[in-house]
Amino acid sequence: MENKRRQIHEELEVVQEGFANGVAVGFPFNDKQKLKMIGEAEKAYGKFLDALKCDWRNDPNSMETPRRVAKAYVNDLWSGRYTAMSPITSFPSDGYDGIVIERNIPLTSMCSHHHQTIGGVVHIGYIAGEEGQVIGLSKLNRIVELFGRRGAIQEQLTSAIHNAVDKITEGNKGVIVSIVGTHNCVSCRGVKHQGAAMVTTKASLAFRDDSNNARKEFFDSLKINNGGHNI
Ligand SMILES: [Zn+2]
Repeated sequence: MENKRRQIHEELEVVQEGFANGVAVGFPFNDKQKLKMIGEAEKAYGKFLDALKCDWRNDPNSMETPRRVAKAYVNDLWSGRYTAMSPITSFPSDGYDGIVIERNIPLTSMCSHHHQTIGGVVHIGYIAGEEGQVIGLSKLNRIVELFGRRGAIQEQLTSAIHNAVDKITEGNKGVIVSIVGTHNCVSCRGVKHQGAAMVTTKASLAFRDDSNNARKEFFDSLKINNGGHNI
């Protein structure tokens, strides 16, 4: 049993270095490097506020804001660009041939176009193959965190999560990822519409094949009220 466990690490980190929403050049960064970057970003954000004629230095509520903003980007909003994901272990499926679904995984991300936040949920389903692999459930949450915390457009994020799950569960019979996202760039600027949600879905193999009901079972399961649990 032990020798059938697999660890996936480097492959997940093969992203488009150089893209604005990929990992940072020089990835991964250690704490000292991150601290240096925070200092540089702090100075630059102070200049950004100067350009906007904001008297931040003389406002007790704002005098530390450039550093707060820099820390938020490096440690939270874009943390996936600087910090490598720890290895993910997959296990033999031991004959289970049904769909594995985790729904309502919280998502916080940022759109590449406007640098405004995206909030929402991610639903992930997959079917392990005959010799296929299953993943510990929380690892799906970690994948969402890693890619979400890089910033993206929702379409790219959907593909990135799908492809990572596909890689980890090599030999699977299908993977499906659906994201329901609300975009601050829609609600706070431009058209300024509250309440609109964007839904994106990427599916492969059984979830794209009309000769079975895998896709229907996945979306039907999202409606189940979980026996009264508040999920
Ligand atoms: Zn946007």
